[in-house]
Amino acid sequence: MNRFAITNVAIFTVNPDDRVIANGTVIVEEGRIAAVGHRSELELPADLPRVDCNGRRALLPGLVDSHSHSSLMRGVSENMQLMEWLPYYQREFRAMTPDDAYHAARLSYLEALKNGTTCVMDMYRFMDRCAEAGREIGLRVNLAPYVADMPGLDFFATLEENRRLIDSHHGANSGRIQVWMGLEHLFYCSPDAYAHALGCAREFGLKIHTHACEQKEEEAAVTRHFGKRSIAMLDQYGVLGENTLLAHCVWLNDDEIKLLADRGTRVAHCPVSNAKLASGVARVPEMLEAGIRVGLGTDGNVCNNSLDLFEEMKFASLIQKATRLDPVAMPAAQMLRMATLGSAEVLGLDDQIGSIEVGKRADMILLDIGQPNLTPYCLDEQGGNLLWNLVFSARGSNVTDVWVDGECLISEGEPTRVSQSLIVSQAQIIAHSLIARCDALPTQPSVIN
Ligand SMILES: [Zn+2]
Repeated sequence: MNRFAITNVAIFTVNPDDRVIANGTVIVEEGRIAAVGHRSELELPADLPRVDCNGRRALLPGLVDSHSHSSLMRGVSENMQLMEWLPYYQREFRAMTPDDAYHAARLSYLEALKNGTTCVMDMYRFMDRCAEAGREIGLRVNLAPYVADMPGLDFFATLEENRRLIDSHHGANSGRIQVWMGLEHLFYCSPDAYAHALGCAREFGLKIHTHACEQKEEEAAVTRHFGKRSIAMLDQYGVLGENTLLAHCVWLNDDEIKLLADRGTRVAHCPVSNAKLASGVARVPEMLEAGIRVGLGTDGNVCNNSLDLFEEMKFASLIQKATRLDPVAMPAAQMLRMATLGSAEVLGLDDQIGSIEVGKRADMILLDIGQPNLTPYCLDEQGGNLLWNLVFSARGSNVTDVWVDGECLISEGEPTRVSQSLIVSQAQIIAHSLIARCDALPTQPSVIN
């Protein structure tokens, strides 16, 4: 198994003290971090293979995307707010085949990995094929099938599919693949679906992922239909708890923030998608203040339209500063933590990944800090201006190397396991076919009304 060191590198550990090591060394053994420290603290055996960064690289924990959807529909349904957009989005699910899902997942996972994301939460359809894509690309994937069981929604995943996926893929690929109970939305899932998800989650020790409170009109429609707001309905179904991750939560009131904090419910914050679909700005500072665990998510290429968590970190901070007229809202260290350990926490993986600490899995990324967009930099034990540059100036394209479980999956910007040109050219062909099939479908109204 692999054993190597990364040397002469600026390490942003995201440990409990946010330790930054200006000239650091990390030793990886058997896929885990065996040692981390200043170069003077660690003695390296002469025969240990090493990646010498010559002081021109920064080493970060791999970024974690806590809410995404694989897709081949980037840039296809634009200029629409959520309620108007949903029927267009749903055409993808009505037209797609298992093969489409495979190509969508391969493209999405490769884009994520190249941008420094080592772990994703993916909610999609035909997820056994997504698992196949994950196995090929190598990144860590959480699979939450897009389950819906209300009439007329048979184009989504079924409860049985979700159940089968647990048997076939939970813990697959040396633990890199995890299966979740996925539930689309209150309007799409019956009370039985929530009961089934809860039962399976308890029986197999799984977690539950669903969408909630994304848009003002959606929240009003939920209240009209159920006589209660979304969070109250989810509480009635018994799914609010430490094992549940809610995507979005843009329209929470004070009582709902308190309830989620009391229940230990986790939130995946997707600021770019929320802005693009004109959904609003989530009250993240209030959620964090209340003690809610919040991770960062892209929501997928279909509504983002990129899978670059560097962009997401910057935007998440700026949208709070801009709307609160508060320049200190959500500073760089907080954003880096949210995109790494924070997202790992909401996925229940923080004991394994999310920081560069001894014993954790070696999911790490290197950035070339000698690039013009990251110059000048100065470093101290708090990170210096490099911390700010990494959050407000860096892009996914600055990532040079990516490891998952100590396995190098991206080397000098190129994937090591797969052919990028093959994945991109096949995705291009398959996407054109899928988009043509979507365009041939009548646009049916979303069940939200
Ligand atoms: Zn979503």
